[in-house]
Amino acid sequence: MKYMLVLAIVFIGLWLWRGNRRVPAPPAAKAAPQQPQLQDMVGCAVCELHVPRADASVGRTGDLYCSPDHRRRAEG
Ligand SMILES: [Zn+2]
Repeated sequence: MKYMLVLAIVFIGLWLWRGNRRVPAPPAAKAAPQQPQLQDMVGCAVCELHVPRADASVGRTGDLYCSPDHRRRAEG
């Protein structure tokens, strides 16, 4: 019975020791807030609507349009 008590104390001691040694969990790797992709916005030569340069329609003279329709309207 004495050994059971000693064993119990040893286990409790180990349990407490492990509890204290536990490395604090690293702060959850917070996903860096995604920077919105900045896009170069250009204004349509006809209606002045701003559209991303990648989506703009480029006219013969290099003017940019919001749509092929406005490019045709401007270039005849
Ligand atoms: Zn337009």
